[in-house]
Amino acid sequence: MTLDHRLLSLLVCPACKGPLELRRDAESRPLELVCAADRLAYPVRDGIPVMLEGEARSLAEAPQAGGEAPQAGSDAPQASSDARAGEP
Ligand SMILES: [Zn+2]
Repeated sequence: MTLDHRLLSLLVCPACKGPLELRRDAESRPLELVCAADRLAYPVRDGIPVMLEGEARSLAEAPQAGGEAPQAGSDAPQASSDARAGEP
């Protein structure tokens, strides 16, 4: 067990010096350290957190499932068959 709460409290985001949230996988192994302010996730490799901005994963660019749900039916483009514009 390399990561515990005591160690975690010492770890801050290298970008904003803010607190980090430890995420674990399904087997409760440390997965990544998330900075909510920067929306960055720093990977944990073999129990060792990699506190490098260049190694961090951007959460903003890769939203989790359930982010944008397309609205059904409301904004369907109306296709008019008899008024075509820009036909060659
Ligand atoms: Zn940060």
